Amino acid sequence: MTVIVDDAGSGDLLFGVVVGAYREETGEFKYDMIDVRFYQEIFPEKEYLQESSRIVSKLLAWFNLKPDEAIHICQGCIFDVAAEELSKVYGEDRVKRVRVAGEAQRLVEIAYLDEIRNLGYEPLAEREEKRGKSFFHMMRWLKDNPEMLRYAKTGWPRLKNYHLFRRFHPEPVHTAICSDCGSECEVPFQPRANRPVYCQKCWPAHKPRKKNQKN
Ligand SMILES: [Zn+2]
Repeated sequence: MTVIVDDAGSGDLLFGVVVGAYREETGEFKYDMIDVRFYQEIFPEKEYLQESSRIVSKLLAWFNLKPDEAIHICQGCIFDVAAEELSKVYGEDRVKRVRVAGEAQRLVEIAYLDEIRNLGYEPLAEREEKRGKSFFHMMRWLKDNPEMLRYAKTGWPRLKNYHLFRRFHPEPVHTAICSDCGSECEVPFQPRANRPVYCQKCWPAHKPRKKNQKN
């Protein structure tokens, strides 16, 4: 017998990630979610990898694996820690990284769709083929329902390019000494030794003139 482990939603803007396990021979299926908070402020710490591993272990315990039962786990990097852990526990021979297709993939996908529908969002029918379109569809929905931003993977670094997510990616602040008045000030860039820095009060007097801009 074989238990297949797959995920859904890790590339989607909304909500957490579904991790599901499916036993081919019996049709048993069970899933849990990596909470969306792992994809928010703490996203750069990559704790979702440990969380994914923890969930996989829990699901497999529920399946009560037979002594020689194989585990096929999706190749996606979200399972890198999980696969390593499983190899330690069950032995390398029983754990195989695969491209998951068929019923297992279908079931985790349905589970993810159910979860995002529960938020009140209706996914695009062609979500899987048109990833980019789906991303903007979800983003537009968040724009219309800003209170739902707490259910979005706002920690993705590339989101800082979008106004809607900017507040989740504050610019780092540097302190500097104003080259004019000598008071301490905060600037949104790393001050360089050979370049003057001005505080907000002094800046207008040092602004480059715009007169000759056109040549
Ligand atoms: Zn100053």
